Amino acid sequence: MNDTDTQQWSVKQSTDLYGIEEWGGGYFGINNDGNVEVRAPGEDGKVAVPLTEIIDGLKQRGLDMPVLLRIENLVDSRISILNESFAEAIKVTGYKGQYRGAFPIKVNQQSHIVEEIARFGERYNHGLEAGSKAELMIAMSVLQNRESLIICNGYKDAEFIDLGLQARKLGFKCIFVLETIAEVRLVIKRSRELNVDPMIGVRLKLSTKVEGHWAEDSGDRSLFGLTTNQLVEVMDELREAKLLHCLQLLHFHLGSQIPNIRSIRAGVLEACRYYIEMVAEGAPLSYIDLGGGLAIDYDGTSSVSGHSRNYSVQEYCVDVVEAIAQQLDAHQLPHPTIVTESGRATVAHTSVLLFNVLDVGHFEPGPLPESLPDQPHEQLSNLWHTLKMIDGDRLQENYNDVIYYRDQVRDCFFRGEINLRDRALAENLCLAGLQRIVSLVPQMKRIPPELEALPEQLADIYYGNFSVFQSLPDSWAINQVFPVMPIHRLDEEPTRKATIADLTCDCDGKLDSFAGPDGETKTLSLHAINEGEEYHLGVFLVGAYQETLGDLHNLFGDTNVASVRINTDGSLDFVHELHGDSIADVLSYVEYDPQSMFRQFRMAAEQAVRDGRISVSERQSMLAAYSESLRGYTYFER
Ligand SMILES: *Cc1c(COP(=O)(O)O)cnc(C)c1O
Repeated sequence: MNDTDTQQWSVKQSTDLYGIEEWGGGYFGINNDGNVEVRAPGEDGKVAVPLTEIIDGLKQRGLDMPVLLRIENLVDSRISILNESFAEAIKVTGYKGQYRGAFPIKVNQQSHIVEEIARFGERYNHGLEAGSKAELMIAMSVLQNRESLIICNGYKDAEFIDLGLQARKLGFKCIFVLETIAEVRLVIKRSRELNVDPMIGVRLKLSTKVEGHWAEDSGDRSLFGLTTNQLVEVMDELREAKLLHCLQLLHFHLGSQIPNIRSIRAGVLEACRYYIEMVAEGAPLSYIDLGGGLAIDYDGTSSVSGHSRNYSVQEYCVDVVEAIAQQLDAHQLPHPTIVTESGRATVAHTSVLLFNVLDVGHFEPGPLPESLPDQPHEQLSNLWHTLKMIDGDRLQENYNDVIYYRDQVRDCFFRGEINLRDRALAENLCLAGLQRIVSLVPQMKRIPPELEALPEQLADIYYGNFSVFQSLPDSWAINQVFPVMPIHRLDEEPTRKATIADLTCDCDGKLDSFAGPDGETKTLSLHAINEGEEYHLGVFLVGAYQETLGDLHNLFGDTNVASVRINTDGSLDFVHELHGDSIADVLSYVEYDPQSMFRQFRMAAEQAVRDGRISVSERQSMLAAYSESLRGYTYFER
């Protein structure tokens, strides 16, 4: 690339190409130097720090790529937006009740995230949702404020219930959300024995269905929640046990990442019908809990298709508040406290996976000869002549011929009629032909499907220093699209089209679906790698659900993790750093004993010294290297 090209390309073009303003939620953008910067709330307006600066700081602290970067204060900002949007909606609609958020710990269980949510959320009485004993123990230890809610979902055994009842005794607003009949009996029994009134909620199975990846959480076949029939039974049992006065909360959860605001409204309206009926039956309800579902715009399209949503946080809040008020006003019922358990919308923005590119695979021909060798094989010469014919008029036919003669050459090679060098020449000619066809395809009026898929087949493969299974499990498991882009050189034109492969050498270990300005694409525009220079990519919006699902695929363990905080004056604090798993760590997860491995290796080395194959000093350096490797990072180190 020459200088004039570089000058013609503007940062604005990169901004449009990668859609960063659309999916960035105001937290990410590109500065005039062509670097991605994090934009955080400042004293007046926003303050910005380039990711490259953060990476430099991490390197100085001994944290190499890949790194999961958490920008702590983005969580604070999200909690503010959620609470203040509800407060505003409550104000403008004249709603008489309050809002209480509860962060579901399962969405990001890392202590620094949960502790930050508890610390910052205190001013809004923002609570926590716990789906297991362990999570309830976390909630009880981090929440300082007795106004905040602890919502207990999931299956609860006697120990879980005892723990929650003890929380009640300590003054926590800890609510058991009942999902089964068995649970109600256990709650009745244990609260009698511990002599404390529980706070009880019921989780309903609504018939409202939602679209999207998590649709199975909703509708009649949903795995969770009580049917109407079971609800009646639960209420009867509570009445019988003289505990109906403890039934205060109605809960439903339609699924995560709900793309369409109409489903949310429909769910709220249906839930309100139950609310009204339950109050009529004598349950003194005062909370309505919508669960999660508030969606993130991963692809920047603001639409119901793909990985986005057709509403803003503000619209969500207004719609929910209005729908509840409208239903309950018709029955002159007091307005309940509105609870949401927004997880994804709270933490997705906070984390960015940063990795470097290790190598690039091209599907480009090498230099071609001026002419064929003397007396070429007939098929090789056919291929050669086909190439000369490609001029844009009959591209599909040219394509068919190139592939046909290439396959003929391969067959001949198989039968021993063509040698290694001619086969290599033929493959090179074939690539040259296909690349030439690709370059002419855009001129066609109508592009046949085979030719349409060709650019993707000839795209570069950028090998990234990370593991999809470890760091982006949803990309692999449910084809979740995350925004991916280079974090620097954005004032240069990205001239390459590429897919991204990870380190696992597994055919699923790749990123090959990207959000583009014209919808989802199979390739991503990237810059050619400059010799001797690092090229860094970021995968954005990975703060929700990606951190704890990871398995130990190919024994790549946890990446390095760093938390930073951008102060309102624009200065940067490195608040926390955690070195990723060492090789010894991941080996011991699968029950190897690194010490005995080292012992075995030392014995093998000792034997080699005795046999005279290596010297004593060679033995020393081999042992040192082995032991160093055990302590080292599982990812690629330079
Ligand atoms: C997973 C889950 C949530 C979080 O949903 P988001 O869409 O991430 O906000 C909330 N409540 C319950 C019951 C859940 O299972």
